[in-house]
Amino acid sequence: MEKMEERTAGGVAYTLERRRVKNINLRVRGDGSVAVSAPPRVAVGRVDAFVASRAAWIAQARERAMFRAAEQARPCAVPPDEAMALFSGVSEQVFPLFADVLGGERPLIKVRDMKSRWGVCTPAKRQIVFALRLAEKPHAAIEYVVLHEYAHFLHPDHSPAFWAVVARYMPDYKVRRALLRR
Ligand SMILES: [Zn+2]
Repeated sequence: MEKMEERTAGGVAYTLERRRVKNINLRVRGDGSVAVSAPPRVAVGRVDAFVASRAAWIAQARERAMFRAAEQARPCAVPPDEAMALFSGVSEQVFPLFADVLGGERPLIKVRDMKSRWGVCTPAKRQIVFALRLAEKPHAAIEYVVLHEYAHFLHPDHSPAFWAVVARYMPDYKVRRALLRR
């Protein structure tokens, strides 16, 4: 039994969904809307009070969501040909580490305006596609993404073996990866 209800509490409009969950869960979606799920037995007054108590946090989360949406809508500051030159340069540095598994042949490098991923490796095509927006990130972060995608030629998944390869060639990869989120 699932039931949706539009409510307002503490100045916050939200959608309440009754589900078989353990606790009251609150989520601010990418568009800034607020979704709450609660177990059927919890009184609606308690859900309202919970939402109202988190009004300040919700306002902050909404601001972040709007900032992210604006960032995604903004055109990339780096032209595609410059991005291509940048990624190809880093790829040249990483290639020797994986030359054996690639049979000595360089992968095909492409740039695409992707929103949700920094890179996609397709071993069957010997191809790596990089997100145009990656070109705006710090060089240390770009190096990490290039190595990450190359490591997929050895392991197509994100298994512990995959991460072991990444860590072997780039012990500080976690610090570099964190730079992508800024
Ligand atoms: Zn990956």
